[in-house]
Amino acid sequence: MGSSGAATPEGKKTTVSPKAVIYQKYGSRASYEVEEVQDFVQNGCPGLCIPQKGPCLYRCRLNLPELSILSGTFRKKKDAEQAAAEMALQKLGIHPLTHNADVRDAGEDLVSRVAYLFSNEFLASQHPLSCHFRASLSREGYLYGSVPVSVIAVYDGKISTLCKLIDPMVESNPSLAISFVLRAAATLPTLITATEGQLWIRRQNPYPPEVIEPLLVEQPSTLGGVCVQALLIPSSLNEDVKPVTLNVCSSNYYLDVIAQKLGELDASKILVSRPIGKASSETRLYFVASDLQFVEPTSDLNGKKLDIFEGSMNTRASYLAGQGVYGGAILASIGYTWKSKDLFHEDVFLKLYYRMLIYKTPSGPYKLYRESTIAAELPVVFTIKSNWRGTFPKEILCTFCRQHRLSEPVFAISRYPVKALSDLSGSQKKLKVTESTEDTGQTNENAANHGDDETVESVSHFRCEVKVLSKLQDLLLQCSPKDFYRKETDCIQNASLKVLSWLSSYFQDFNMPLEKLNSLADALDIKVNTQHLFKEFKFCSTMYLNQQRTIKANNCIDGPQATEEHEHYLLRIEGPESGICPSNGSLACICYSACLVTEVGHTKELIESSHEFEFEMGSRAVNPHVETAVAQMSVGQSAFYLVDLPSQELILAAANDSARALSLINSNMCGLEYCITLLKVTEPLEDRMEQALFSPPLSKQRVDYAVEHIKKSGATTLVDFGCGSGSLLESLLDYPTSLRKIVGVDLSLKSLSRAAKVLHSKLSKSLDADMPCKSIQSATLYDGSIIVFDSRMCGFDIGTCLEVIEHMEEDQASLFGDLVLSSFRPSVLIVSTPNYEYNVILQKSDLPSQEEAPDGKGQSESCRFRNHDHKFEWTREQFGSWARNLASRNNYSVEFSGVGGSADHEPGFASQIALFKRLPQLDERLEDGESVHLYNVIWEWSNHETTKSFD
Ligand code: SAH
Ligand code: MG
Repeated sequence: MGSSGAATPEGKKTTVSPKAVIYQKYGSRASYEVEEVQDFVQNGCPGLCIPQKGPCLYRCRLNLPELSILSGTFRKKKDAEQAAAEMALQKLGIHPLTHNADVRDAGEDLVSRVAYLFSNEFLASQHPLSCHFRASLSREGYLYGSVPVSVIAVYDGKISTLCKLIDPMVESNPSLAISFVLRAAATLPTLITATEGQLWIRRQNPYPPEVIEPLLVEQPSTLGGVCVQALLIPSSLNEDVKPVTLNVCSSNYYLDVIAQKLGELDASKILVSRPIGKASSETRLYFVASDLQFVEPTSDLNGKKLDIFEGSMNTRASYLAGQGVYGGAILASIGYTWKSKDLFHEDVFLKLYYRMLIYKTPSGPYKLYRESTIAAELPVVFTIKSNWRGTFPKEILCTFCRQHRLSEPVFAISRYPVKALSDLSGSQKKLKVTESTEDTGQTNENAANHGDDETVESVSHFRCEVKVLSKLQDLLLQCSPKDFYRKETDCIQNASLKVLSWLSSYFQDFNMPLEKLNSLADALDIKVNTQHLFKEFKFCSTMYLNQQRTIKANNCIDGPQATEEHEHYLLRIEGPESGICPSNGSLACICYSACLVTEVGHTKELIESSHEFEFEMGSRAVNPHVETAVAQMSVGQSAFYLVDLPSQELILAAANDSARALSLINSNMCGLEYCITLLKVTEPLEDRMEQALFSPPLSKQRVDYAVEHIKKSGATTLVDFGCGSGSLLESLLDYPTSLRKIVGVDLSLKSLSRAAKVLHSKLSKSLDADMPCKSIQSATLYDGSIIVFDSRMCGFDIGTCLEVIEHMEEDQASLFGDLVLSSFRPSVLIVSTPNYEYNVILQKSDLPSQEEAPDGKGQSESCRFRNHDHKFEWTREQFGSWARNLASRNNYSVEFSGVGGSADHEPGFASQIALFKRLPQLDERLEDGESVHLYNVIWEWSNHETTKSFD
């Protein structure tokens, strides 16, 4: 099978069918299913399509382990199969040419290609490489006409392809290509001079004058020359990367100029890397060839050799290029292109170098896109599309893979109709699988292609699996989230983000023990093939591990301080409190600046700033300290604080004046001062909907309902389960009640601290003034989970739980119900939760600016639940059966009520409420069980005076 790729004599073009390539790669793991498609001939009347049997057509589905592809329709079965195979190759990024002809053919092809490059015809042609050949004719003395082999290996696409065919290891060690070109040249002694041990080759006989003369006339007359800014990256990490100037004029060969900067006289010793950054860029690394370069990475090196290997390795340059670079290297954007015969050049500044470093990290493209390298972080969750700012996770993941020369990630989307989902519960019924390596639009098309019933599609849920593969198709990692999404794009983005999050942790600590890496992966539904992964990222790990080593060494010189202490800073907030505060899920819009400040002399240097930076609270889209600050602010206020410096890379990728930033960083006692103003807060969808439709807002109506009930009940003790920021507890203080003891429990520390703030100020006032709440003698806030037992929650008169259960998984909601009613046993329990049936009405109230709905499905799809943190929303029937079962199990009665809307009109209340009452029980005795304290007291208040009088 492998020999089917015979080369045709003239063109030297190997033609092998896509099917053959697939067979070579997958063997029997590839299966083709051909199906007949009826072709309906249209009868000329648009809209009136009368089926008439036309010729029989075929389409083919190709199933591969990682994807399945459906071809278009063809008259011949054979064509459909080939088309499917070709589409698969495209998706996998495999070029047929690189996988067909056997090695011997490739070797022969390489020889003839090299011969062609030294022909008269090629010299006159328009090709980036022919410019090098022409430039070599301007070299003087013994260098006249000699062309560096590295240039031949790098600038001709055909040569690179053939070299990879001879040995796929060229992919990871491009210098191998040089030996292949030299070997090919050696077989052409009459045409080419190639001296052993030399890295240049030259034509045996000079070009005839009739070939050369027209070229000289054509030559651009830019005699003056140019100065190109480039960077020198020393191999020692102790030396900074510094600017160098290349003086290039039309009478010298630019590679000779670069060679001189690297201390070499002869450009043929210079090796040229792949383009860095974007594939289309001409930014490359130039470095002197070392013997080590030609050692195959797989060959066994004994320990000693390895030391030398590591010693001269230029870790920064190797990281950038993704290939071994030894000794000093020059990073420059210069070279010949297809566009013009003139030399292309662009200045490369330090900032660009640092941005390139950042771009290669998993979160880099996000930070750079947001133009916020030091304040922005790649969020850890993708909630809804309209809350995401910046490049989408899937795009970032694709960029990351390209940057690290991996294959394009493979996405597999499974579709489940909603009905099947409800009886799915664990047992996995896979119904339809569509594939995409491209954008989601394409997947939609695929889905539509063979999804014959539209109705099923509109009520489907999606799940997405992502695979990251090396260029040679080794599986590096696979993420298979169990969550279902209403929208295809959401499941793709979420899975991509999980992969990126894991990669980020890996990039932050390449020394992380294997167990920890795996447990992080587990938590993100990821399986990692560490062996392949470590191999692919070896240059990255060397880079960051060595850097850490040097930082540590430097810190020791400066003194042992700094490294250990972190994140304690003083936050100063200025401006009047407006009461408009961001909470989880809301969008905060801030204006910020970050300046380097030195303790000595108080020098300040602006590093990064933005007039309008918007992010979703609670998704960790910014540095933790920025979010902490913003969480404590209200609109209009400003915050100021100082933090330790982030990594030098980040600062220099942001700073405009790199030299100055560098000198400040190196001077001791330098910190980063943040100044943040909160400009605007956009509420989460739920709040906006409830405010748009109800007056007073639904949240207030809920609280009022509970307050009314408490007033009437004569209760003296109350516990609010999931009290959040204390909206109910706070309102209670505004009315005279019989309450003496109030308690709140939540697991959000941020909400609890806000609750503590308001309760504290209100209760303190009650001591002096004649406030309605003066009956209250103690108030306590606990940090704890309401599905965990704590004996201090037992025996209250009233328990409340407003809009909390839907934030837990359904089984946990049941657990909570049982725990409260069987163990805590309050006399009364009030539980509220959204009524799912009411959502149609909420969604009809117009909410402009949300969800541009590019897929035409509209916004009702995106906000099926009122809040992205909701794990479920129940219909009246679901809530009813949950509550009735609970009540009967635990000897309580239950009644139903609600707020917003009415019980008598469909679809019932907007918020449904269950009122549980403990039924008298003969054998009920309040157990004096042992005390179990699993909650932490966050804040406690007591009215000492009154307490005393009771003593
Ligand atoms: N009852 C408040 C807050 C509702 S928001 C009000 O009506 O305004 C839901 C709250 O439930 C959040 O503050 C969240 O932190 C809390 N919560 C969710 N799961 C919890 C759990 N297992 N234990 C305690 N609190 C929980
Ligand atoms: Mg809620």
